[in-house]
Amino acid sequence: MRSTYYTQAPAVTIQLGARLGRLLKEGDIVFLFGELGAGKTHFVKGIAEGLGVTDLIKSPTYAYVNTYDLKKGRSLHHYDLYRLEPGDDVTSLGYEETLADPKAINVVEWADRLGDRLPSRYIRVDILMEEDTRSIAIDFVYPTRLRDDMTQSYYEEWQTPLHVRAHSEKVTDVARQIAEVYIQKNQIVDINLIHTACMLHDLCRLCDFREIKKDRFQEGVTDAKWQKWAELRKKYKGVHHADIASDFLKSCGFEETAEVIRLHKSVNIVREFKSYNSLEKWIVYYADKRVKHAEIVNLAERFRDGQARHGILNTPEQQAEFKEVEKRTYDLEKMLFEKLDIGPGDII
Ligand code: ADP
Ligand code: MG
Repeated sequence: MRSTYYTQAPAVTIQLGARLGRLLKEGDIVFLFGELGAGKTHFVKGIAEGLGVTDLIKSPTYAYVNTYDLKKGRSLHHYDLYRLEPGDDVTSLGYEETLADPKAINVVEWADRLGDRLPSRYIRVDILMEEDTRSIAIDFVYPTRLRDDMTQSYYEEWQTPLHVRAHSEKVTDVARQIAEVYIQKNQIVDINLIHTACMLHDLCRLCDFREIKKDRFQEGVTDAKWQKWAELRKKYKGVHHADIASDFLKSCGFEETAEVIRLHKSVNIVREFKSYNSLEKWIVYYADKRVKHAEIVNLAERFRDGQARHGILNTPEQQAEFKEVEKRTYDLEKMLFEKLDIGPGDII
């Protein structure tokens, strides 16, 4: 699952590249795919701009690579492998060295020339052209990435109840609507991360339901399922479902999705506000607060529902913390929609 952007002018392609450039960290690698004239070099111009390079960026077609100094001893290597034949040796270009340099950022045009010799972590940019329109698909590839087609098998593994799955699908829908508007605004969003985190945020919700009653579930609860549920609830007694799912997915190697899921737990927005450091984390947290069961509602209604179900148990300290959670969530809503042409009420 990738985020696809449409640009109608070279300047917009550059702007999109710059937004990606601003997110790049040391060690990041960007591979660009697309025909001659697709706009790869324009995109790289943007990346360089986003990284603070002020030199004129030209395609290094004859040199294969141009290097630019960045702040803090870092550097940007811009490769253009157009003249390389498939299977040709890239070692003589210094490619392996700069790719392995932890202080470097590498950007490679004509990455298809590398065949399947791609590292395990990179950002893939595919540009397709049609007259003056370019569709630019951006995909974040990393070994610890959970693929969107894997979510169903985790539901099965954890025997996640059907109504929890329905809730999760609705949350995914809300998050996608918001993410799509950000993508239309040419903001860089990892849509796969949002999708998988939303789908699995309540994977282990069953474990911390206050009580369970067989007839409350829409599916037929077999004895085997009931027993499995009882075992899970016993094993994870007292642990919040966000932490159970997050620890589990981390143990499977899916760090990024695990962390986004951990942060859907409401109190975390008060206890560790600083951890909410990406658009993906904001969107997933917020989308969950807009869905009551499998219905899209406003924040007030969702909070009222939460209070009705848990309110009486709260100590004054918890009550105060909950007020703060509400306030932070409203602030987040404001922040999320500030830059968009739609409002919270337009999510349907
Ligand atoms: P590549 O490096 O993929 O060969 P370049 O970036 O050098 O491509 O060139 C792209 C060409 O397409 C330029 O002539 C540019 O003006 C033109 N162009 C037209 N529309 C766009 C667009 N939306 N984005 C990028 N380039 C565009
Ligand atoms: Mg080029």
